[in-house]
Amino acid sequence: MSEVVGIPVAIDSRGTRHGRDTIDETPRPFDGRLPLHCGGCPAPVSSRRGHQRRSEGGTISVSPHFFLKPGTEHDPGCPFDFRARANEIARNHRGAVQRAGDYYELLLPDLNQQTPSEPATTRRQSSSIYREISTDTSRSKLIPVLNGAARIAALLRNYQDDEEAAGRFQARHQGSTIAWKDFCVDAQTDITAAFHRSLAHGYPLAVHGLAGTIETKSKGEQPYFEMRTRRPPRQGGQGSSAGPRAVLRSATRDSFRAIDAAPDRRWLAISERWRGYPSNESPRLINLWINQWWQLTTWRD
Ligand SMILES: [Zn+2]
Repeated sequence: MSEVVGIPVAIDSRGTRHGRDTIDETPRPFDGRLPLHCGGCPAPVSSRRGHQRRSEGGTISVSPHFFLKPGTEHDPGCPFDFRARANEIARNHRGAVQRAGDYYELLLPDLNQQTPSEPATTRRQSSSIYREISTDTSRSKLIPVLNGAARIAALLRNYQDDEEAAGRFQARHQGSTIAWKDFCVDAQTDITAAFHRSLAHGYPLAVHGLAGTIETKSKGEQPYFEMRTRRPPRQGGQGSSAGPRAVLRSATRDSFRAIDAAPDRRWLAISERWRGYPSNESPRLINLWINQWWQLTTWRD
């Protein structure tokens, strides 16, 4: 675990960028165009093919990656200096993200914890998905956590969701740790496994995607608001994920104020209210309910 996370992008002597998926090709597109340097700074790098590695817990597969040549360092601020960028997130989100050995932990507050002064909600008590979590305590605790989660998600997107990079992060909830891939998911991927896990273990999920249009819907007389995730432009003729789509919903329009302010950005929401449609067992849609604007943030990729 103490190994450095691989660099996902390198640039060859002619200035062409290469993702780590090119490393296992034969011949490799950068052969004859050496030397390579880091995709984020001029530090010289080498490539390593994907392989199996023995560890204490058995064999783990290591994705192909680029790595710094011995005795060299990234420039300050390089987006692919993993340790520096992860430490920066922990430093900038003190109290929400902390370093624990080789891991970085996102500290999730208990969203259901009610303060004694909070009045019991009777208006919507019949429907648990509308359960109010509006307390100043929850808000002040969740906002830095939400922003920390967004920074981590952005970092991992920069690493093309590399498993080794994601493996350095985890969430902590009520004394238990949750692997990052089980906590924070891209709405465009199959999120069924994380959804079922969060339901079984009772922890919140973080979901992110591209902002779409917000529509007004109604269930009986109760109006609600819904945003479907915009699909990213197709790349290389690939189709979209076969898994269920995640849909963000709220009983109040104000919950989407972050999207209203920046409609073309990537969003991330944290919530404990998820419901599969038509069933939790085999969902085609996963409806994520948020109650408050401070459960949703946006950023530019
Ligand atoms: Zn670099």
